[in-house]
Amino acid sequence: MSEKRKKLLLVNPVNRESAGLVNDPSTSFMPLGLGIIATLTPDHWDIEFIDESFEQFSVSRVDLVGLTSFTSNAPRAYEIASICRENGIYTVMGGVHASMLPEEAKGYVDTVIAGEAELIWPVFLCDFEAGNPGQFYQGSATPVELIPQVRRDIFKYPYVNDLVQTSRGCPMGCDFCSVTQLCGKQYRERNIEDVLDEMEQTTRPLLFIVDDHLVNNNKQGRERAIRLFKGMVDRGIKKLWLGQASMNFADDEEVLYWAARSGCTLILLGVEAETTEALTDVKKRLNLKRGVDSYENAFKRIHKHGIAILGAMIFGMESDGRKELMDRRDFIIKSGIDAIQASILTPLPGTGLFNRMKNENRIVLNHFPDDWKYYHFMHATTGTSKMTRDELQETMEEVWWSMYNKDNIRKMMFRTIWKTRNLKAAYWVYGANHNYGRVVLENMINDGPDGLNRNLEWNSGKRSIFLKLTDFILIILYAISWNKMVDRFRGRY
Ligand code: SF4
Repeated sequence: MSEKRKKLLLVNPVNRESAGLVNDPSTSFMPLGLGIIATLTPDHWDIEFIDESFEQFSVSRVDLVGLTSFTSNAPRAYEIASICRENGIYTVMGGVHASMLPEEAKGYVDTVIAGEAELIWPVFLCDFEAGNPGQFYQGSATPVELIPQVRRDIFKYPYVNDLVQTSRGCPMGCDFCSVTQLCGKQYRERNIEDVLDEMEQTTRPLLFIVDDHLVNNNKQGRERAIRLFKGMVDRGIKKLWLGQASMNFADDEEVLYWAARSGCTLILLGVEAETTEALTDVKKRLNLKRGVDSYENAFKRIHKHGIAILGAMIFGMESDGRKELMDRRDFIIKSGIDAIQASILTPLPGTGLFNRMKNENRIVLNHFPDDWKYYHFMHATTGTSKMTRDELQETMEEVWWSMYNKDNIRKMMFRTIWKTRNLKAAYWVYGANHNYGRVVLENMINDGPDGLNRNLEWNSGKRSIFLKLTDFILIILYAISWNKMVDRFRGRY
C-alpha cells in the first residue's frame, strides 16, 4: 500500500509594521534554513513555501506549518501560528529567535525546535507522523559531513541572489551577535567539492556567500578560501558574488587575487567602529587586536583587486554620544568604505549584550513579544551612557540622511570607480546604498510634494547641480556597461 501523502507549508514571516533592514523586497534573501528543512523532509511530503517578502500568508489545507523567524519577525510568526492553530493546523517553529527564546516560542506554537535542524527535524517528523510530537526538541551542532545541500526548487520567488553557506560557527563571541551561541565556537567547514557542486546548481545572476567568516581565522582558513575561489574559476561558475568577512580578508594577496578572479565584487566587512573605545564596548576583539589604524591599508588592498567594500557599522555603543556618532559618520564618508550598512546597536536575545542589559534593567522596549518588531537595527531600542533612546534615534535620522542622500551616494559611487576601477562594483555599490537608504529613510518616502520617491529623489523635482551634471555620466555608463548589470539585478541575466 502506498504511503499517504502529506503536505508541509514552510513560511518565512515578515514584520508588517516596520520594514527595517531585512524587509525591503529588493534586498530579500531566501531563507536557507527552510531549504535545508525541505532537503531533510521525506518524499511522501509535498512542500509549499511562502515568503512574506513577496506574498502574504493565507490559510490553506496542509498537515503542518513550519515557521522560521528572525527576532523582528517573531510577532508576525506568532500571529501566523495562531491563525493556523485556530484552523486546526499543527505548527512548528525553528530559526534563530525560537532557538534563543524557546520558552517564549512554546507559548505560541505547538512545537519548538531550537538549534540546528539536521539531526532533530527527522526525529520530530517521525513523532509527528506517529501522532505523538513533543513540545520541544533541542538540536545540536551538525557534524560537517552531515550538512546537506539546500533544496532550491522551493524558492519560487524572484530573488536576485542565490545564497550558499560553506561553513558554520564562529569563536569570536562579539557582544552584539548570536552566531557563536547559535552555531558554536568551532568552525565547521564543508567539503569544497560539495560546496562547488551546490554552487553549480544555482540559477540566479548573483551569489551571496553567507558565511560569517569567508576566510576563517585559523591556520587552514587561507588555503581553504583559495581552494574555494580557484574551484569556482576552474568550474566556470561565472557569478558576481558578495561575501561576508572579518578584516583578515585583506591580509593575503593571493586570497584577494582569487576572490576577485572568481567574481567577488562586494565584500561585507565587520568594521563596526573606528575607535578603540567603541570596539571595546561591543567586545569586537578581532578589530581591537589589529588596531583601528589597520583599516586604511586593508581597504586599499581590497580596492586594488577591484573589490568594493560594504562596511558594516554600528551606532549607539555604550560610550557613544552625539559627537561620537557624527565622528563615525565622518569616518565612514572619508574612509574608503563604498556601501554603508549603518545599524543601531540592538540587544538581540541570546547575545551577551542582551543578557547584560536585562540584568541591569535597561531593556526599555520590553513589552514582548510585541516589541520584538522594533528589533531590526533601524529603531533605537535603548539609550547609551550619554544619550536617551529618543536622542539616539533623532541623531541617527540625521546621520542616515547625511550618508544616504542622493548626492552623497552618487559621490560614493564615483569614488568606488576611482578606487576599484571596476564599473560593476560601482553599480552594485550604488544600488546597495539606494537599498539601505530606502530602508532607513522610509519615514521620508511618500507621495506627498515634500516627500522622497523610492529612487531617493524629491517628489518636488528639486535637484542639486551636482546631480544634474552627473546624470550625463550615468547615461554614458549605462550605455556602455550598466544595462547588463541592471538586468542582473532584476534577475533577468
Ligand atoms: S559579529 Fe562576526 S566575528 Fe563577531 S561573533 Fe558574530 S559572526 Fe563572529
